[in-house]
Amino acid sequence: MLVKGMVFRLEGELPFDAKSLLEDFRVSANSAIRIGLMARVTSRNALCKLVYKDFRKDYPRMYAQHLVSAFEVAGCILKNHRRRLRKGSGGHVPYVRRLFMKTENQAYKLDRANGVIDLPIRAGCHIKLKLVLSNYHRRYLDDAGYSLGSLTLFPDRAIIAFRKEALKPFVPESALSLDTNERSLDGVFTKGRNIAIVKAEFPDVAIIQQRHHDRRRRLQKKKAHDRRTGRDLCKKEGAREHHRIEYRLHQVANAVLAFAEGHRSAIVLEDLTGFRPGRGKELNRRLSMWPRRKLHSIIEYKAQWRGIPVVKIDPRYSSRKCPICGRIQDSRMGTELVCECGWHLDRHVNASLNLLQTAISNGMAGGLRFDPGAFQHDVMMILYEPAMAARSEPNGTSDAGAMS
Ligand SMILES: [Zn+2]
Repeated sequence: MLVKGMVFRLEGELPFDAKSLLEDFRVSANSAIRIGLMARVTSRNALCKLVYKDFRKDYPRMYAQHLVSAFEVAGCILKNHRRRLRKGSGGHVPYVRRLFMKTENQAYKLDRANGVIDLPIRAGCHIKLKLVLSNYHRRYLDDAGYSLGSLTLFPDRAIIAFRKEALKPFVPESALSLDTNERSLDGVFTKGRNIAIVKAEFPDVAIIQQRHHDRRRRLQKKKAHDRRTGRDLCKKEGAREHHRIEYRLHQVANAVLAFAEGHRSAIVLEDLTGFRPGRGKELNRRLSMWPRRKLHSIIEYKAQWRGIPVVKIDPRYSSRKCPICGRIQDSRMGTELVCECGWHLDRHVNASLNLLQTAISNGMAGGLRFDPGAFQHDVMMILYEPAMAARSEPNGTSDAGAMS
């Protein structure tokens, strides 16, 4: 089951009854945390057994279901707290600071045609919350294939979980193999006997990251005498940076997926999970790896929703191996891989050929054939480039005609 959280802004102010519900929710979650800490209990059911009766007396106004979900929130926080303690960090007593409440789908109703939430507060008291709807929201509300999950309510917005049965991935008729680099995805698209180079460029991700890195360093130096302000400013910087980078990564992922969907392609990526950076410049390496991993997780997540098959391949030797004769080069120098057998190709593109070869020999989509000899050096398809960000629908199929 796939779940997607959708954020809705609320029309107008939150009614008084809803505000006091949020406050009651926070107070009851925090008391449950305190009691759970003392009794060394973290599960929702154990908390229920322990404190439900007393709580009913203290919070007679609150609908029982909401009280139970306050215990659930408390249980989650306690579990995280316990995990941090085990790791040896996070000593202070946890508490809920933000004003919010969460509830499961039995406890609220949503009028999907008009975007109105009906939320019970207590016996005989319901409130209506009008959601601000865009076309994007409409698509989910109008599609009966999505069922509703939990509702999380904040003073100014609501998050509703939409759920859907995962689609069965289609049987690919072609493959899109991509080597993930700091500034681009480089790879090949293969269909029938043909192979062409593909590219999706996102140079601004590394630029944004570098700029923020420098600015953070300057801030830390400047605010060295006031560490709290320094830390807060850095946090703000970090959030902004993540936001800007993620926006771009989503655009790239959308373009790649639109292409794959249009050509019924399986997507082949290197498996980055085993990647362990060396000791020396560990932090820098980790920072520069983050967008790549993030891009992969966005692609995989979105592909699941759309039923596009994604295959992950161990990237060992992929950037040093010749796909024709299998020789492995000693060094990774130069932008081209030149082999004694006469094969030469851009190193990144070559890596994607190796990933594809492994994917096919591992049995990806039985019918797919792959013949490096049919390589068309002169065909290059641009899946994405920064200029496309201005357009609403990136068009990744501009010269796909050359391939059929
Ligand atoms: Zn060779």
